[in-house]
Amino acid sequence: MSSIENKGKVIYLDNAATTKMSEEVKEAMDPYLEEKFGNASTMYGYGETSRQALEKARKTIAGTLEAKPSEIFFTSGGSESDNWAVKCIAGEYKHKGKHIITSKIEHHAILNSCKYLEELGYEVTYLDVDEYGMVSPEAVYRAIREDTTLITIMFGNNEVGTIEPVFSIGKIAREKDVLFHTDAVQAYAQVPISVRHYPVDLLSASAHKFHGPKGVGFLYIREGVQIPSFIHGGSQEKGKRAGTENIAGIVGMGKAAELAAKGMRAGMYRETMLRNYLIEKIVHEIPDVRVNGHRTKRLPGNVSVSFKGVDGASLLILLDEDGICASGGSACNTGESRISYVIKELGVPEDYAAGTVRMTLSRDTGRSDIDAAVESLKRNIDRLRD
Ligand SMILES: *Cc1c(COP(=O)(O)O)cnc(C)c1O
Repeated sequence: MSSIENKGKVIYLDNAATTKMSEEVKEAMDPYLEEKFGNASTMYGYGETSRQALEKARKTIAGTLEAKPSEIFFTSGGSESDNWAVKCIAGEYKHKGKHIITSKIEHHAILNSCKYLEELGYEVTYLDVDEYGMVSPEAVYRAIREDTTLITIMFGNNEVGTIEPVFSIGKIAREKDVLFHTDAVQAYAQVPISVRHYPVDLLSASAHKFHGPKGVGFLYIREGVQIPSFIHGGSQEKGKRAGTENIAGIVGMGKAAELAAKGMRAGMYRETMLRNYLIEKIVHEIPDVRVNGHRTKRLPGNVSVSFKGVDGASLLILLDEDGICASGGSACNTGESRISYVIKELGVPEDYAAGTVRMTLSRDTGRSDIDAAVESLKRNIDRLRD
């Protein structure tokens, strides 16, 4: 039996890894897991019900981005959306060139798609970031060549929370006639994003990062952007992403997007306050600590800190014993290197880097959770430093 089951109350501070599905989302999905099970491509009534539910979710999601419903394509999540955007744009425009620009701190769904393309003969420029994890728009500008076909830079970083200058990069991409994709898996439903305001051509999101179900996401593809099919088969998603639709999942994502949009301003304000409270409390109560990422251009719920002379993995185990779920960096890196590549790229000194803890909040997080987490951090760091 794990320590969590023993103790009862769990303080969940790993919302960047995944979020708890909300009750309303589950309720919206339930009928589609039971009586409304029809395949959306069939002719009878059951199918029509599913079809309508699908298009309602598409419309809701489009609305949150100020996009057209026809620009939203459902996928199995963030990784698929990223793979589709990067690989298929690269393939479609290979006659123009085989050069792609990205950053060194992207999610592995982007980095490994780029690595794969390199094996196929593409060239990829991986841009450095500054000490705050920020990509410089000037560096993007300088990296653009005649044969560049795609720029892919994330909206908000999953480990250190930095919000990238997506608007400026998008403007440069437009000016230079290069397509621009952004991995907004962490940012969508956390901060307002309008594709009328932001010059982005493609955007990835994933439902389980905003209190929706796992295994469903979408790719926004601006009207007029030529992109080949990612999954070949039937005519679902205009033939671009074949396979019987995950109706319940899509309905759940639509509901989660609707709830996030409705509570956006208040949620952002509340989470930012709580986040700053957590950061300040740590900095005041625990010596020899660094805050990673940008102080203000930051996802509302992200706190990433590095404690000097502490082994991060040991600290996470001790936190877990107190019922606190935190993370060392990205959930996708478990078991790999001790120090995350993102933390390395920010240039965090080694005696700090190994003691990195990420705590990510959500609308379910309360002030008492923060107080308990800091108490546990303080006590366990004292133990480890002794
Ligand atoms: C979680 C995450 C992904 C992957 O999304 P999945 O839906 O889990 O495949 C991609 N990019 C970022 C920035 C993420 O945080």
